[in-house]
Amino acid sequence: MIDNLKQIFSFLDGCNNARDIVKVLEEVFPLDAIYIYDPTTASLRDFSKSWMYIKSKELSNIFEKLNKNNRYIAEDKKAYFALFNNNHVIGMLEFSEKLHDKLLEFLNLSSFCISLKIENIILSERMQKNIDFHDSMKNIAKIIETQYETSYIVPIIGEMIDKFVSDHLVYIFLQNELVWPGACKDEKIYELIKCLNNKSEYILTPDKKIGLFPMISEGKLLGCIVTRSTENVLSDKEIEYLEQLTNQAATTINRANVYAEILKHATLDALTGFYNRRQLEERLKQEVSSAKRQKRNLCAIMIDIDFFKNVNDTYGHAAGDLVLKTTAQVIKSQLRDYDIAGRYGGEEFLILLPYTALQEAKIVAERLRKAVEQKKINISKILPDKKEINVTISLGIYEYQQQDYEKTLIKNADKALYIAKKTGRNKAAVIESNM
Ligand code: GH3
Ligand code: MG
Ligand code: MG
Repeated sequence: MIDNLKQIFSFLDGCNNARDIVKVLEEVFPLDAIYIYDPTTASLRDFSKSWMYIKSKELSNIFEKLNKNNRYIAEDKKAYFALFNNNHVIGMLEFSEKLHDKLLEFLNLSSFCISLKIENIILSERMQKNIDFHDSMKNIAKIIETQYETSYIVPIIGEMIDKFVSDHLVYIFLQNELVWPGACKDEKIYELIKCLNNKSEYILTPDKKIGLFPMISEGKLLGCIVTRSTENVLSDKEIEYLEQLTNQAATTINRANVYAEILKHATLDALTGFYNRRQLEERLKQEVSSAKRQKRNLCAIMIDIDFFKNVNDTYGHAAGDLVLKTTAQVIKSQLRDYDIAGRYGGEEFLILLPYTALQEAKIVAERLRKAVEQKKINISKILPDKKEINVTISLGIYEYQQQDYEKTLIKNADKALYIAKKTGRNKAAVIESNM
């Protein structure tokens, strides 16, 4: 018996999560489930099944009957044993059959250790949540400093909050319109959103399953973050976190809107130093019309970094930004003074090569491809353990034809890029005008 006890203590010691504990206990007992009482919602939850809520009245009744003098209840087909912390019952173990005396004695001796381990795991899960929360806050703060495109910021915020309240669906609305994720079919949410104004506090439905957190910045209502669950309710702590995250998100989005307004009047993209999209379109118009007028050559190369999402996912967005910036510098260093380089989208660049025929453009594209492939990007300032990474680009080339519009140029360069991606990446592909 002593040996068995020692063994179970040492096994429990090595447990890091609910599943481990269940596995250890199942070796010894006919264990069915571990229920823990959740004081926030005044209900039992299934510790062994990702905190599922238990609605059974019978189980609640049994739980209420358990106390210091009544630790064990055996029914026809099931048996229950109370778990204690000091003097109060924190939960109970459920068994598929009555326990014989030896096993019961064993459980009496070991139950304090089981309770302790379970409480420790709950505590460390809570702490992990705290850490996740602070990481999220830090991440949002970083985005505030570097990003100004809401279409880029919103999914990041969405994914961050989604991870944080993983048992709830998360929606982000800007100006009453859903912007993340793709769909929300819950009519009730749309109804609730209409009630928000620039002085609103968060709204919680009476069953605590839907939460609306208005994003208000500088007295303006920008939208809201909504959480919804069919099963779980929001705890007070989660509500507090969500309020803070929403405030941060509101500041970020507000800054992005202000930035975007300012940048409308700027010509250069802040991160890469290339022409921004608006200015690029302006330059494209000029180049096309002078190529048309003077009947001279013009080529376009559309460039997209390969597997760039992986860079963000593996090394973080700050490293992603640095890669983007460095790639732009490498590209720039390979171009002539009168070539035009613009940031077309997130990690897509459009290069215009005036006075350049297709054969020459192919050579330029290959030079760009090689230069990026060979560049070692030092990210140690962002991630001290990681020194260098490198990326590749795919390129789509198209040569302007006399009858073409600006749109045709972009569309065909993009089509060529698509072919380069489809046929292996880290390469250039060409669309001939008669294709
Ligand atoms: P593919 O080879 O097919 O192009 O794969 P990919 O992962 O590069 O796919 P895609 O082009 O669709 O992904 C672009 C990613 O670039 C998604 C977006 O999160 C990221 N991104 C866009 N703009 C920025 C930015 O300004 N900074 C950072 N760090 N990431 C950005
Ligand atoms: Mg890409
Ligand atoms: Mg892309």
